[in-house]
Amino acid sequence: MSHTDYKKMYDKIFRILSDLTPLRADCGQLCDHACCKGDSKTGMRLFPHEESVLGVSVTESGDRLAVCDGTCDRTKRPLACRIFPFFPTIDERGRIYVEADTRGALLCPLITHMDEVVFDKRFLRAVRRVGRILAKDRECREFLLNATQEIDTYRAFLSEE
Ligand code: SF4
Ligand code: SF4
Repeated sequence: MSHTDYKKMYDKIFRILSDLTPLRADCGQLCDHACCKGDSKTGMRLFPHEESVLGVSVTESGDRLAVCDGTCDRTKRPLACRIFPFFPTIDERGRIYVEADTRGALLCPLITHMDEVVFDKRFLRAVRRVGRILAKDRECREFLLNATQEIDTYRAFLSEE
């Protein structure tokens, strides 16, 4: 995609993910919705140009973040919230994998108990499809590459503990 229509792309991505969540049950009951206890100083990191399709306020301090006070219109929540605690990582040949987003390991019990949890395969397949769509756009591919490096760094750090 050289001239990506970001609205069209994110609409498609949100349709693919639809109401899918990591588990068939509500994982928020395991942790009292730990990943939605945001404060207005942090927030969720947005994917490139995602703000054009979201009804969230955005802070531009370094990273582009969607301000989150722990409540939102679920139909307009950022992509990062929809795919957490997984992420579509990418290798140097552009292949997409679906891996635990180790950046959230302190927050999410699913990440630290990956081997004991049965995830919804439809969700994992959807995250991979989403990754393939994102990888077609240059800016989004860069974003995936940077995030993959961060996730690798966090994983290495966690395995040393
Ligand atoms: S922190 Fe993890 S287990 Fe808790 S609601 Fe978020 S994704 Fe689910
Ligand atoms: S934007 Fe919504 S889904 Fe995302 S962390 Fe905040 S409350 Fe949770």
